Amino acid sequence: MLIVGGGLAGLITSIRLVRWGIECVLIEKKSYPFHRVCGEYVSNETTPFLKKENLFPESFNPPQLNQFQLTSVSGKSKKINLDLGGFGISRFSYDRFLYQMALQEGVNVITNHEVEQAEFNEEEDIFNVTSTDQRFTSTLVIGSFGKRSKLDKSLNRNFMDKRSPYVGVKYHIHTQHPDNLIALHNFNGGYCGVSNIEFGKTNLCYLVHRNQVKRFKNIAELEETILHQNPWLKSLFTNSKFLFDKPEVINEISFETKEPVWKHILMAGDAAGMIAPLCGNGMAMAIHSAKILSDSILQCKQENRSRFWLENTYRNKWNSMFAQRLRAGRLIQNNLFGSEWSSRIAIQLAINSESLTQLIIRKTHGEAF
Ligand SMILES: Cc1cc2nc3c(=O)[nH]c(=O)nc-3n(C[C@H](O)[C@H](O)[C@H](O)COP(=O)(O)OP(=O)(O)OC[C@H]3O[C@@H](n4cnc5c(N)ncnc54)[C@H](O)[C@@H]3O)c2cc1C
Repeated sequence: MLIVGGGLAGLITSIRLVRWGIECVLIEKKSYPFHRVCGEYVSNETTPFLKKENLFPESFNPPQLNQFQLTSVSGKSKKINLDLGGFGISRFSYDRFLYQMALQEGVNVITNHEVEQAEFNEEEDIFNVTSTDQRFTSTLVIGSFGKRSKLDKSLNRNFMDKRSPYVGVKYHIHTQHPDNLIALHNFNGGYCGVSNIEFGKTNLCYLVHRNQVKRFKNIAELEETILHQNPWLKSLFTNSKFLFDKPEVINEISFETKEPVWKHILMAGDAAGMIAPLCGNGMAMAIHSAKILSDSILQCKQENRSRFWLENTYRNKWNSMFAQRLRAGRLIQNNLFGSEWSSRIAIQLAINSESLTQLIIRKTHGEAF
């Protein structure tokens, strides 16, 4: 089994498969540990599964987040309690923890290698995979290479034709922020999540439309001119200690529809479909897709089923679990990033109606598993 990409989806799939005696090679482009642009809030829908599988980052004592604050550009604020909530952990720590677990369980993890091509040979019923300087063959390939990869291009995936206008920026800071609170502060052309992670640090991560970024010389100027209009953000930016030399930044974040199976590759996590970050559910979906994919592979092996059966079973499970959530996420994202006018109305509505905010949370989250 060959797994391309070692984020949450790839690492968790590999760990489960080797535990069942299925050999796995996982190829990751970077080397651990490293920072990623991510709000680092993990929905508690994953907690029972993570604890049962011994994959919960217990030793980091991650803060539990059970209160949500939404603020408008002008600083109007509303707080509500979260029924399920989540926990905060940096990807630097969590991915490294899972990587070490994968090595310990016997996954063959190859880091610093980028997969450039993965082609299925119908006649031989096998994949030929090429990375930076190695060739592999495998009967199954799992694509867990995240939201946008070189490999998407060589696989001719449809969403790659469309440019995506979103830019993501992340910092770790030291600041005064309640341990149980996840805040979503809005600004013109974007939104910024703030919540605590391990060891008393706070994650500050925002998504902004490219058009806003283009108006300014650099990120610092964008932040001072646009983000600081929201008094909550101004206070955070001026009263905190920023822990990175420079922000983590990514471009071309796409929420276009993707396919959970493409050219016989079984996609997991963001590679199968990415939910808008404001939903705070991408990591939970990556973890859950790793579970349903590894379960399907195990069942396929135990019952000696065909590739066709495996692809259909996984596609159906994935669609029934996530397709609706992704649609809801896209709808909310489009409203928030529509005209300034529609965005302002949407935020005001959510601030004034607790039941609407609760409904949005329900529509973009799953049940505990
Ligand atoms: C601004 C922003 C904020 C977010 N905030 C949150 C949040 O608070 N909560 C939440 O739940 N979700 C959040 N998300 C979403 C979350 O980060 C993703 O859904 C999650 O990381 C998906 O995990 P993954 O394993 O699918 O992919 P990733 O974590 O992206 O892992 C993919 C891996 O594949 C590797 N790779 C890529 N191409 C190749 C290749 N060709 N060969 C080898 N390796 C390759 C990459 O280096 C990477 O390590 C946010 C996203 C953004 C953009």
